[in-house]
Amino acid sequence: MTHAIVARQAGGPEVLVYEESEPPAPGPRQLLVKVRAAGVNFIDTYKRSGTYKVPFPFTPGSEAAGTVEAVGDAVTGFVPGDRIATAEGINCYAGYALVDEDAALPVPDGLDDLTAAALPLQGLTAHYLINSTFKVEAGHNVLLHAGAGGVGLLLIQLLKAKGARVITTVSTAEKEALAREAGADHVLRYQGFPHHVRELSSGKGVDVVYDGVGKDTFDGSMASLRVRGMLVLFGAASGPVPPMDPQRLNAAGSLFLTRPTMGHYLQDAAERRWRSDEIFTAAADGSLKVRIGARYPLAQAAQAHRDLEGRRTTGKVLLVP
Ligand code: NDP
Repeated sequence: MTHAIVARQAGGPEVLVYEESEPPAPGPRQLLVKVRAAGVNFIDTYKRSGTYKVPFPFTPGSEAAGTVEAVGDAVTGFVPGDRIATAEGINCYAGYALVDEDAALPVPDGLDDLTAAALPLQGLTAHYLINSTFKVEAGHNVLLHAGAGGVGLLLIQLLKAKGARVITTVSTAEKEALAREAGADHVLRYQGFPHHVRELSSGKGVDVVYDGVGKDTFDGSMASLRVRGMLVLFGAASGPVPPMDPQRLNAAGSLFLTRPTMGHYLQDAAERRWRSDEIFTAAADGSLKVRIGARYPLAQAAQAHRDLEGRRTTGKVLLVP
């Protein structure tokens, strides 16, 4: 017997209930993983609230790290006892979770289990955003929102390692200090940010904006770009952006707009391995710092969602069974 978080219908954080459950049985190409920690991500809140449709009853969580407990008959690359992490696990808010063999990332020796749980989803996201969605190079001017968040703190460090100039927004002094510590060149509050971004970019605007805040920042993000700049809308922490007229892109400077999602940037084993090797190696050798801002017992998943949605968290939020 173990425990899992179960939601029986869409709703607020209170729908997340801690229940006794049986460990699931792995399919032929799956691993049964004893979860050491599960990552809490904004997408878990979209699924819980009904913004993204999922079947109920539903156990959230696609990110975790832990030890392989059992393997399916057709698994060739892993054995019980191996340490793995994943950004694409199945029902990870639980004592035991299933992971498809293809989605399991071996954890290098230099990386502890909690850091391994904190890194995959936000780390792979930061990696694809700056290497593939828009290929950032030395000297590029970049604006990213929510710089003290999970994706934000990783993005700042990876962008600085590429030699970009990084402008970020945050809501509080504590978050500002974290964004500066991570290496941001300029840290702004949201109020009037497009004006300040222009001032900081000689009136031209930035090459790219990474916007995971969505509704509240979208118009300002467009107004912060240079001619032919790219707006990468990768999330909706403040709510989804309403439909827009494509003519706005023309009027604002022949802009590019994209709305990427992680799965399309993990198309095959080679792509997954490239991205995960780079971020795991950087974390293991200390060049990429992973901030675990909060850890909750699994039973307190509802509180973790309240705090994430209430802007009270920084860096990564973990659940520990
Ligand atoms: P964060 O840790 O960044 O938390 C969200 C942050 O957004 C908050 O801390 C807050 O920072 C900021 N924010 C601004 N307005 C609001 C609001 N009204 N309500 C809540 N938060 C607000 O979360 P993650 O790092 O997990 O995710 C960041 C974004 O990236 C999310 O939108 C998520 O969906 C997206 N994402 C997208 C992926 C993809 O592949 N497309 C993959 C992973 C994440 P502050 O207080 O400083 O404003």
